[in-house]
Amino acid sequence: MAVEQPYRGGRGAMARTSRIQGLRDLSVEARRKTVAESAGIDPALIAAFDPGQGLGAGLADHMIENVAGILGIPLGVATNFVINGGDVLVPMATEEASVVAAASNAAKIARIHGGFHTSSTAPIMQAQVQIVGVADPEAGRVRLLEAREELIALANAQDPKLVEFGGGVRDLAVRLVGSRAGTYVVAHLQVDVRDAMGANAVNTMAEAIAMRAAEIAGGRSLLRILTNKADLRLSRARAVFDAEALGGPAVVDDIIHAAALAEADPYRAATHNKGIMNGISAVVLATGNDTRAVEAGAHSHAVSPAGQYTSLSRFEKDADGNVVGIMELPMPVGLVGGATKVHPVAQASVALLGVSTAAELAEIITAVGLAQNFAAVRALATEGIQRGHMSLHARNIASTVGASADEVPAVVARIIADKKVRADHAEKVLAELRAHS
Ligand code: NAD
Repeated sequence: MAVEQPYRGGRGAMARTSRIQGLRDLSVEARRKTVAESAGIDPALIAAFDPGQGLGAGLADHMIENVAGILGIPLGVATNFVINGGDVLVPMATEEASVVAAASNAAKIARIHGGFHTSSTAPIMQAQVQIVGVADPEAGRVRLLEAREELIALANAQDPKLVEFGGGVRDLAVRLVGSRAGTYVVAHLQVDVRDAMGANAVNTMAEAIAMRAAEIAGGRSLLRILTNKADLRLSRARAVFDAEALGGPAVVDDIIHAAALAEADPYRAATHNKGIMNGISAVVLATGNDTRAVEAGAHSHAVSPAGQYTSLSRFEKDADGNVVGIMELPMPVGLVGGATKVHPVAQASVALLGVSTAAELAEIITAVGLAQNFAAVRALATEGIQRGHMSLHARNIASTVGASADEVPAVVARIIADKKVRADHAEKVLAELRAHS
């Protein structure tokens, strides 16, 4: 029943370019300025990226209970992304080294053939109402479907604002779920939540219809909550990765073999999908969205109809011998509700992305997931993952042993050259450096 969204062209009206030479050589402050200039936005819009201006204790205290502090997470900006013909600079909040660099790198290769192409279904979330104790569940299911109009009207009456924005209940589905404790009649409200993630919106509706639904079905309502298996709210991304840029046909074949193992083997699929989530969760977090909801949706979608956990992406070789990457998964993210409108950094991230609908945000996140996935598969199929990780890992080690910002580059260069990226060796190198300066 998923309704396709019309194609929205390039989102490059705001962003001038996502290709920024030498970004990594700038100071954090200078990077913010450069990033804002490249995105064509006022730097004040991303001032909240400065930790001093981000989330304060007062605001945090209104977000959750018993606030005792605020956790800082690095926020990097991925470069090189072209999505539906427009350049996008992508904010990524993550504690893991190499993620931002890898996504930027994959996006650079994807640029050769026009970047990422994305699409999505309408933003349909579903809420479940579990009805227990129905003597005639088959008939109960049909009685509920007969009352479709009444139940939809009752649900829509809970959220006139959503209806005003063009959303609201689109359909009612009813399933019978057999369990070891009995057969349940489970009603699904299918709701177009527009630019919201939608959990609160659909939960309110489910609670509002539960008693009446139970009465009609002839039982008692129990659970009334959304499903995070948001399989009616899918986003897709597609990109072509140039064979020559990847190192030729042998590398292409190995990338296809690497992805095929993830399709066939749950042990590999779990790690393959974790790599996808490295990119996805980072953008979800940066925009103040619910990382757990997106992760639950992704992993439930990774289970095939036959019940096997598999990979969320597919890689093929196109007629010209290039790698084509495809990803399709639930992407329940919003621009209103939850922390998205409250957290200053989330607002800055949305300003940097230049998105105005939840669907655009969802598609960018899916493209980042594909880029991240491709980068990991490529690294694994060629040089292995450790080499790329090594220089950032070395920087972490240099900082851990007390090297100052000025000393870090020299310590990093030495411990990598000595092939001893370890704290004890970094300490020794730092001591020598200081003795000679
Ligand atoms: P919300 O209720 O704060 O905002 C949604 C509401 O905003 C809509 O119901 C509508 O009335 C209004 N609105 C205004 N402009 C709109 C527009 N353009 N499009 C759509 N709605 C518009 O939040 P939500 O998105 O319903 O719920 C998200 C929150 O629920 C997140 O914080 C999430 O963590 C939390 N949550 C998640 C789960 C779960 O995933 N299992 C369960 C409970 C709560």
